[in-house]
Amino acid sequence: MKAAVIRGIGNINVEEYPEPGCGPDEVKIKVAYCGICGTDPENLEGRFGLIPPEMLEKPRVLGHEASGTIVEVGSNIKQYKVGQRVACDFRSTCGICYYCRNKMQNFCQNSLHASPSFAEYATYPESAIYALPDDISLEIGAMLEPVSVAVHATDLANIYPGSSIAISGAGPIGLLCMEIAIRSGATRVLVSEPIAEKRALARKLGADVVVDPFNEDLQKIGKELTDGRGFDSVIEASGSVQAARDTIYLADNCGTILWAAVYPKDCEIAVPAFLMYAKELTIRSTFVSPYCFPRALNLLSKLELKPLITHIMPLDDIREAFEIHKQGKSVKILIKP
Ligand SMILES: [Zn+2]
Ligand SMILES: [Zn+2]
Repeated sequence: MKAAVIRGIGNINVEEYPEPGCGPDEVKIKVAYCGICGTDPENLEGRFGLIPPEMLEKPRVLGHEASGTIVEVGSNIKQYKVGQRVACDFRSTCGICYYCRNKMQNFCQNSLHASPSFAEYATYPESAIYALPDDISLEIGAMLEPVSVAVHATDLANIYPGSSIAISGAGPIGLLCMEIAIRSGATRVLVSEPIAEKRALARKLGADVVVDPFNEDLQKIGKELTDGRGFDSVIEASGSVQAARDTIYLADNCGTILWAAVYPKDCEIAVPAFLMYAKELTIRSTFVSPYCFPRALNLLSKLELKPLITHIMPLDDIREAFEIHKQGKSVKILIKP
């Protein structure tokens, strides 16, 4: 089959790659779409902190936001059949380790990654597969994983009816968090984003105020929107270290600050300790999306997802797709193998 294979740092090419088999407990799909995640370019460039250095030496394939059609089911699979349209979680958890049994599935000690999906075919354990409702297209289905990440983030951000929220970064996760926050009752919504096209999209999808943090006074505008107080919740979804620090100054007394992006492995962020005391702030972070896929699936028909899909590109053009991603103007790029 064809797959986008990375050999060495920054070098990605579409080539022949061994097609995955289908074990007795697995489901094999023909990949319809797979989104480029913000971590994928970092991974391609060898900067993603979760990848051990020795892995970077080996040929590898990325892609973890897939939808597709089932082409084969293992002998033990009862629930799914060939031809069914599905979306996928890229991780499966064991259900028996300490973390799985103690409501921290995202830290499963035996978690397995599905075969990667910037490829024509991929196999998944049954537990990682979600059947798409008839009214959900395969394009929208490929948004299931990022929606699940936004569900987990908004779960942790202490959003409640009538509350105020600031979000930094209008990429897929920032915009999805915004859409879910608004539907959860957040009423004063600010989005900070340096790229004009993305600010316009945030505005169209419901932000009350959008700010260019490089050319406008974010703190001042934030105070104006909240009667001088600051925000009940602040979500950082840009991955910028500076933006992460700025979130601390955007929060109101007792505010919840959520760092929902991936940051460089060796970076440190200075936290104003006195402010933590004087404002009774909470800073939290998120790691993937435990137990969130079923609710994300319910949300697929309720969120505005189409405007977030700015590009659909064939697998053969994946190198160009990564270039477009790097320029920062795209929101979600789907690769179509
Ligand atoms: Zn991802
Ligand atoms: Zn486990």
